[in-house]
Amino acid sequence: MSKSFSHLFAAAVLMAVSFSAFAQEAKEYPKQEPMRPGMSEYWTPQPAIVTPGDQATSSAPSDAIILFDGKDLSAWESARDGSPANWNVHDGIVTVNKRAGDIRTKESFGSYQLHIEWCIPPMPENFKSQSRGNSGVYMQGKYEIQVLDSFGNETYVNGQAGSVYKQTPPLVNAMRAPGEWNVYDIIYTAPVFKADGTYLYRPRVTVIHNGVVVQNNTEILGTTEYIGFPKVQEHGDGPILLQSHGDPSPAISYRNIWIRKL
Ligand code: MG
Repeated sequence: MSKSFSHLFAAAVLMAVSFSAFAQEAKEYPKQEPMRPGMSEYWTPQPAIVTPGDQATSSAPSDAIILFDGKDLSAWESARDGSPANWNVHDGIVTVNKRAGDIRTKESFGSYQLHIEWCIPPMPENFKSQSRGNSGVYMQGKYEIQVLDSFGNETYVNGQAGSVYKQTPPLVNAMRAPGEWNVYDIIYTAPVFKADGTYLYRPRVTVIHNGVVVQNNTEILGTTEYIGFPKVQEHGDGPILLQSHGDPSPAISYRNIWIRKL
């Protein structure tokens, strides 16, 4: 840059700066208020206080609805006809009565957190694949989370324990050995339907099996059919349903079932 040109350039810059300063002085706006910590903090409403369950005894949190406490099946009924649930309550647990068929809660639920424990008895090796301790926990009576002895027992992976049946396999196999108690903690989000009866938002489920995440906010595609693809059926709140499977293996048991509405 020549010397005279650089002088000219400097003068032009000075003029531009002074014009712009003039423009800013012409109108004053309020200054942005400085952010203080309290501006992004709120104190109400306070979350309700829930007393957690005791880990040693696996007791329920204080706001849970107890569905089975080891004493009776008063919260349940036959899924066939609504008659009293006729599974075998003994020793603080309930064992599936295969002749009596599925049972379901009398109460219907939308979205929830469900805790349920299940035990598959040791059994001969000739019971294999889906014929080894098969049961199931159904969300809103329609969507099955598989219950099965998947401890060293291979089957189709979208039908093993922790699967959304015939849809999504579990992320891992977190199964305990036969005779030990398995725990499902299930967080279920009910679907929202459009006016035409199809899903606006599909149902979603997170399943924690023995403390291990096996379904992580998994979208459920529709009903969990044994034969055929998932069906989309418009529905409202529905029961928790426990499956009495027709396979001839020794019956499985459940205990300590509670639910918290979300
Ligand atoms: Mg099943």
